Amino acid sequence: MFKNIKPLVYAVKHKNGDVIKNSSSGGAFTALSDVFLKEGNAVASCIYNYRNDRVEFRIYDDVETRNLARGSKYIQANIDDGFKKLVVWLNDNPNRNLLVVGSGCQMEGLRLLLEFKKLRERAILVDFICHGATSSGLWQEYIKNKGIKGKIDFLCFKDKRVNWHNPTAFAKVKGKEVSIKDFSEWFYGGWAIRESCYDCPFTKINRNTDITIGDFWGIENVIPDFADPMGVSLMIIQSERGYSLFEKIKDSIIFRECSQQDCLQPRLKSPPDCPKDRELFWHDIQMKGLEYCSRNYKEVVPEYFFCHCFIKKVKSIARKLFHSSWFKKL
Ligand SMILES: Cc1cc2nc3c(=O)[nH]c(=O)nc-3n(C[C@H](O)[C@H](O)[C@H](O)COP(=O)(O)OP(=O)(O)OC[C@H]3O[C@@H](n4cnc5c(N)ncnc54)[C@H](O)[C@@H]3O)c2cc1C
Repeated sequence: MFKNIKPLVYAVKHKNGDVIKNSSSGGAFTALSDVFLKEGNAVASCIYNYRNDRVEFRIYDDVETRNLARGSKYIQANIDDGFKKLVVWLNDNPNRNLLVVGSGCQMEGLRLLLEFKKLRERAILVDFICHGATSSGLWQEYIKNKGIKGKIDFLCFKDKRVNWHNPTAFAKVKGKEVSIKDFSEWFYGGWAIRESCYDCPFTKINRNTDITIGDFWGIENVIPDFADPMGVSLMIIQSERGYSLFEKIKDSIIFRECSQQDCLQPRLKSPPDCPKDRELFWHDIQMKGLEYCSRNYKEVVPEYFFCHCFIKKVKSIARKLFHSSWFKKL
């Protein structure tokens, strides 16, 4: 582990544009998992199961399944016996290692289990910066109400076709797109996330994992020539083993080192605030229905966009003011 070194912070983009297009941010997960797949090891991460409409942990060692795992699903994953299976896999494959990706709380639970089982050294743990996860039960109700339960062929919570800063969300049913934007607004607005997420102890830079990944919001203010409308990943190296893995992905990515201060975003400072009308939201879901909540609970822009856009606007006004004749007269 890094004993005396502060976590190193990088802005990262995969060299392959198609990878970035199909990833939530800059393709950090693909670069990291490729190393494990190429070396004959395996990866464990969450996949949307289109047969039962649940997000589940799966262990795999092929590129096709890894590609299915890409993309942020804003739904709480069902762990069930997923972690038990990881332990069994590590015991059954004594010469192979595992890359595991999940949220901060999931990875902390797994870390404790693997340390207890004396298997921690065989797993690289990657957690992502997390705004919270919505209840899987609410998702089931939502798709049932929309008439798309059991019919979804493809799901995308972070559609970057406009660009990364203005993602939309949709499901594909029999080739047709069905908007699920209202559901993602309940996520961004914080009404639908689990109660424990408002007290999350993992909303900080230092973690017990090996690498932390996330979206590099505000990259245009920090390294303007590295900004990309399709997304930039943030990578925080938490351990020596994490750094060794980072060394191995250098050929597949372009990257810039930056300071901890440069990468700070709300979910690296504190948990999301609990909306004042959260209780009312859940009351309305039960008493007035999902359509009512779709119309009345909207958070079009996530909190970090607000901060980012506000800073950008202030900077632009300051720049205009500085170049104005009025300022020069002073
Ligand atoms: C619920 C949620 C909230 C997030 N909130 C933030 C945030 O506030 N700020 C921020 O910077 N980044 C956040 N992220 C992370 C971000 O969306 C990207 O996943 C991250 O930037 C990695 O990008 P990538 O291009 O490498 O990802 P991709 O290639 O798209 O890979 C995404 C990885 O996340 C895993 N994953 C997806 N959904 C889930 C899930 N529900 N549970 C567990 N694992 C899952 C996938 O299996 C895959 O390993 C969040 C992600 C999720 C799932």
